[in-house]
Amino acid sequence: SVGRKDYLEVRDIRVVFDGFVAVDGVDLTLLQGQVHFLIGPNGAGKTTVVDALTGLVKATGTAHYGDADLLSLPSHKIVRAGVGRTFQTATVFEELTVEQNLDIAGGVHRPARRLLRRRRFVSPRVREALAVVGLTHLADRQAGTLSHGQKQWLEIGMLLVQDAQVMLLDEPVAGMSADERVATGELLQRIGTERTVIVIEHDMDFVRAYADVVTVMSAGKVLAHGTVDEIRADPEVQRVYLGH
Ligand code: ADP
Repeated sequence: SVGRKDYLEVRDIRVVFDGFVAVDGVDLTLLQGQVHFLIGPNGAGKTTVVDALTGLVKATGTAHYGDADLLSLPSHKIVRAGVGRTFQTATVFEELTVEQNLDIAGGVHRPARRLLRRRRFVSPRVREALAVVGLTHLADRQAGTLSHGQKQWLEIGMLLVQDAQVMLLDEPVAGMSADERVATGELLQRIGTERTVIVIEHDMDFVRAYADVVTVMSAGKVLAHGTVDEIRADPEVQRVYLGH
């Protein structure tokens, strides 16, 4: 049965920067259990949509998730409402270990210093996140020494520890090796079965392999929405996005 929190409903979201309309009336319905990709040419407004949903830029419209309208909440309350994001350049604490990064992510309400002193206790939630993102064997490694791909997985692990039910991921596979891409695609499918996952992506092979649904943006608007096959058959998408 679908509960009230099982989807994120975005209606008529608009973002204007100094008179320039970056996002021009975007609607999105993000269902739980789907890996949803957001694609489109550079400058289409994809990152700005994610910035609006996570409180980093001001937007008009609505974005209902459960009882919360994300557009009216500050960033920290959006996290508490269960909505988390990653960035193209991972924002992990480079000096700390993988496990300490996860401890901090889970300890948003507690002083970080006390958590760091607490030795050798790995909380079940941290242990589970390590396993899900495949970093158990690197738990004691300094995060700054991880590969780009491993840092992305650590960021996803931090969202898991925060119990994010909606995950907004900004080009997670950019700069990853072929093996890392496959591992990431499988990770998205695993976390996507129980959560709402939306991924900004440029790599169409990756989208084709792992998308349940795709939304195509262009010039601040939604151009098309559907399965990969539906998107690929859309003449507007072919014209604007694929350059045909
Ligand atoms: P995408 O993620 O699809 O590449 P963006 O959301 O980054 O697109 O950008 C959409 C448009 O908004 C671009 O034209 C970009 O230059 C502009 N833009 C993004 N952020 C700002 C900002 N802080 N100030 C002014 N313009 C911005």
